[in-house]
Amino acid sequence: MAARFRAPKGTRDLLPPETALWAAVEAIARETFERYGFREIRTPLLEETELFARGVGEGTDIVGKEMYSFVDKGGRNVTLRPENTASVCRAYVEHGMQQLPQPVKLFYIGPQFRYERPQKGRYRQFHQIGAELLGGFGQWADAEVLLLLVAFLRELQFTGLRVMLNTVGDESSRAAFRSALVAYLEPRKDHLGEASRRRLETNPLRILDSKDPEEQEVLSGAPHLRDHLSRASRNHFAGVCRLLESSGIEFELSPRLVRGLDYYTNTVFEIVSEGLGSQNAICGGGAYERLIEELGGKPTYAVGFAIGEDRLIEVLPESFRRGIATRCRVIVAPIGTASSHGAKSLYAEGVLDGALLVCDYFRRNGISAEWAAGKPERVFKIAEGTGARFAVFVGEEELAAGRVSLRDLETREQEQMTREEALNFLQRFLP
Ligand code: AMP
Repeated sequence: MAARFRAPKGTRDLLPPETALWAAVEAIARETFERYGFREIRTPLLEETELFARGVGEGTDIVGKEMYSFVDKGGRNVTLRPENTASVCRAYVEHGMQQLPQPVKLFYIGPQFRYERPQKGRYRQFHQIGAELLGGFGQWADAEVLLLLVAFLRELQFTGLRVMLNTVGDESSRAAFRSALVAYLEPRKDHLGEASRRRLETNPLRILDSKDPEEQEVLSGAPHLRDHLSRASRNHFAGVCRLLESSGIEFELSPRLVRGLDYYTNTVFEIVSEGLGSQNAICGGGAYERLIEELGGKPTYAVGFAIGEDRLIEVLPESFRRGIATRCRVIVAPIGTASSHGAKSLYAEGVLDGALLVCDYFRRNGISAEWAAGKPERVFKIAEGTGARFAVFVGEEELAAGRVSLRDLETREQEQMTREEALNFLQRFLP
């Protein structure tokens, strides 16, 4: 029968056993981020629309066409957050965090919403794990955030990820580059798609992001930002590279990397992974020097990143996946007399009660256990599915004697003992 309701387009249910991976990744994020001095912030899913218009930028795809915006019953223009940096900066200003010792280091984990065309690795509700270092100091702040990012990905046992690094320069570098780029593209407009022609007016730097082959061709001759960098920006970027090299982090310079959001200045970066197709960026970030001022605070240097958790989970190394052992270690099974394994007779024989109580006894004592009724073959099958190593059988005869049968599903050895002895054994054997 076809389901009557489905999750809305572009959204999805995260189901077990996959959710165990999500929880494990998030636990490692919390542990690592806190070790690096970042503390958690949780901002509303909903903000004033104006916050994103200002914070993300009118010329961006996000604000231009991807926001879930609506007017609420009180006539306010609100938007489901499409990213979290603007909210974090708003909170930083709203709660006077500029008065605290600087830098303020925050991280977040949660859903974001963008009305995009769904495809592999791209959803309308997706999840980000991100960090922001606010009130930091130039290249050292950038490097610290990158060190945290790489440390986290190493904890997840990634080896083949590529760190792509670029600088988009400070305000003066960008102004100079923007004019040079527009001067180059203007006479070649006919080779640009409609979106890029529009960006020529609104946000010409974004055209460099294009994946369209014909536009790529045109762009191959375009001026380079690196030729328009101010001395301060050059020094800043050289400093970041030097710090990363000194800590043994490999990265690639990626002169075409500009990132979609308006607010970045100087250092920008992405982490890309094979195996994700065209949506191959699992993380993006960079420094932003104007955003907090734009939102009403004092000028504040800040830098941060957002990891796309959906994509991260998709490419998690096999070694990490395997390590997330299923939690159930023991299957407790009531067994009936040989003639019947049906629920009715199990109930009549009191073994259902017995199994549940034995199961609870293990659980109370720290052993994760599950119980399943049915023929032994079925019990073995369930055990296999949950990764349980042991089965504990509870039959009428065992119950009468206050005993259970403990079976090692790997060696197939089986032995009768009291439930206390079984617990003792399991506690010693299971890590
Ligand atoms: P951004 O906020 O655009 O810099 O994105 C940061 C990261 O979030 C990207 O590198 C992606 O991994 C992830 N991301 C962005 N948009 C989506 C989406 N629609 N679906 C899934 N992941 C996304």
